[in-house]
Amino acid sequence: MTAPTCALPSCNNPGSKKCSGCKNTSTHYCSATCQKSHWKEHKKTCESAVKANCWVIRPNPILPDADPADDASYIEPLPLTSYGDWGAEMLELESKLTNFSPDEAGKFYSHQDGVDTWYYYAYGGTGPGPENKLASRLIGRKQKGDVAIVRSGPADSNDYPHKFGKADLVATAKFYRTNSPAQVFQEREQSRVFRKMGLGPSAMRQSSETAAMQAKLSELGEKYGFRSN
Ligand SMILES: [Zn+2]
Ligand SMILES: [Zn+2]
Repeated sequence: MTAPTCALPSCNNPGSKKCSGCKNTSTHYCSATCQKSHWKEHKKTCESAVKANCWVIRPNPILPDADPADDASYIEPLPLTSYGDWGAEMLELESKLTNFSPDEAGKFYSHQDGVDTWYYYAYGGTGPGPENKLASRLIGRKQKGDVAIVRSGPADSNDYPHKFGKADLVATAKFYRTNSPAQVFQEREQSRVFRKMGLGPSAMRQSSETAAMQAKLSELGEKYGFRSN
């Protein structure tokens, strides 16, 4: 294995320092000065700056020397040209990923406080392939193989950017180290549905204990249902 050269084209020194924004690509520099000079160009591809409409979570760290304890080591951009057309998205994902099965693995809310108008959707299967521990943590059940993540929401929800950065997903992953996806999901669903019904937080607390209201909630959940395509 030859040592990488500095990514600044005008520099031929060996690059011993890796760009810390790029967990999954081998961009190296000889010095901070070269990194700075190259930033205008590198920011177009640097993972810390790129936003994409889809990211993929791999079951294993993408680079063999990556830190397995760092969630960022498993996530890379997978921009979809077919984004927005569900059937075409699944075909595109199937052609680009290994061990990908076009199932909706689940959806989970952002770490952002109280956000309840859109989800992260996870696509990918329960097999075959190695266990995908990061995706399993986000969804709250066991996933295998590659899992693709896009943002989506109900038809009346347009308050979120469809392109997002890796840092957003990494922050959400960190949030679910200490929060239960099922519990967060239930809380946010309730707050969204109650808001639609014009009921405040106190009504939500009282009535969430009654079975009748629970039934009504799930009915409304169906009615205002999420991603229908
Ligand atoms: Zn250099
Ligand atoms: Zn970089």
